[in-house]
Amino acid sequence: MSSPDKQAPFAHEPPDDFRQVENCGGTFTFWRDTDNTIASSYQSIGAGPAALLQYGVALDGSEVEFWPIRGIDQRPPREPSQRVPVLIVSDKQGMFGRLCPKCESGYFRVRHPSRFHFCPYCGVKGYNAAFLTKHQRALIERLRLAIIEIAEGAESVSINISSLSAALPENRPEWAYTEETQQTRIKCPDCEEIFDVLGEYVLCPGCGKPTWESMFAKKMDAIQGQFDRADSSLQDRMQRVEEWAKLIIRCVSAFEGLARKIQYHLLALPSHPKRRKDLGDYRSKAFLMRLIPFRDGLVSIY
Ligand SMILES: [Zn+2]
Ligand SMILES: [Zn+2]
Repeated sequence: MSSPDKQAPFAHEPPDDFRQVENCGGTFTFWRDTDNTIASSYQSIGAGPAALLQYGVALDGSEVEFWPIRGIDQRPPREPSQRVPVLIVSDKQGMFGRLCPKCESGYFRVRHPSRFHFCPYCGVKGYNAAFLTKHQRALIERLRLAIIEIAEGAESVSINISSLSAALPENRPEWAYTEETQQTRIKCPDCEEIFDVLGEYVLCPGCGKPTWESMFAKKMDAIQGQFDRADSSLQDRMQRVEEWAKLIIRCVSAFEGLARKIQYHLLALPSHPKRRKDLGDYRSKAFLMRLIPFRDGLVSIY
């Protein structure tokens, strides 16, 4: 690993509460145009951040694919099912909720979803559409059904998601979703993605860069500052002992958080059973007695 001070650090904000964030609202309308084609519009009169993402959905509902906006797809119908463009909306902070297809409970939000995402928790890389939340899928399904309704003869169909998203969860259709703020908001120094996640030792969902070194260095700097302040301000020996004991616990806990995360990712790599067992045992006494040989082993293996 290179030294943390040679890298641009991740900018991050302190932990936030888990708050529901309404979607940015608006109304989707589909109608039959005079030349017998299906037309659509999206209208929003809300203030504040709002963003849209375009997906292609198969008319039979079997597939959903991320389509970066660059004009409506004009290719002729293809097997197995023709795909049509639909839009999903951001929340009122301009963020899109995402759910990892591997962790399943791995929820996070991003500002600029691109063709691929990395899961900030388990590191799996997948297509954008694989990270759609259940509620975003429900909105896509509702929009697909609206297009089918028009194709089957309805004059127009309007879907207003503004009013319904404010309703209580039990009265709200799944497609009128809200998102949820997570603990830590982070900005990646490399790809500039802005995301919020649970915890701090994660990967950037945009480029996969780990926050570990940067976050650990920040924690250590803060603790070092507290050591220095205690050193200069506390004259009483017992008070200093007490304060240092507290700070040492914080150091160990920051280190353990980092070690657990690195262990998790190393265990995900294919390796010899003996090596896996050693890695899995890192909290045992035997491991603690041989921290330095273990460190040398890690450097030579990985
Ligand atoms: Zn994951
Ligand atoms: Zn990044």
